[in-house]
Amino acid sequence: MLDEKSITDRFWQYYGKCLTERKKEYLSKCNLNCQYNTRHRVKKQGSIGFCQNPDIISKSRNPVFVCDDSDTAQNCKYFSCKNTEASVEEGFKEIIHNPSTCGHEYPKLAILIWVLQGDAMENKGIINAIRSLFQRILNG
Ligand code: SF4
Repeated sequence: MLDEKSITDRFWQYYGKCLTERKKEYLSKCNLNCQYNTRHRVKKQGSIGFCQNPDIISKSRNPVFVCDDSDTAQNCKYFSCKNTEASVEEGFKEIIHNPSTCGHEYPKLAILIWVLQGDAMENKGIINAIRSLFQRILNG
């Protein structure tokens, strides 16, 4: 059975892992992270990304330039990431502080926070069951 210190250690371990993965995703060179990319709904095709960079648009034969995959962004010299390390960290903290979004995006972290905050301390059986469950999830 995990004690409180072990759960706290696991929390910070997992917190660091999630933040690292989030930074990797949001700081990567992909169309969704480019500050020039805007998404619009196109009939029968769903949401599509379009480039709004003036240098690209002016050189394009078409009035619109579709940028809807990471390959296009990977090969684009005008790519400019709209996110920074600080903005990703800030966004992550906001998610963690909101139980609903945290539960949706990082359910394991939400469980750990819930256990550490002692919201269920009145019921030791539930706490112990969650600790066991979490131990299995982390080890699994
Ligand atoms: S084409 Fe380049 S500048 Fe334009 S949205 Fe895509 S990555 Fe950004």
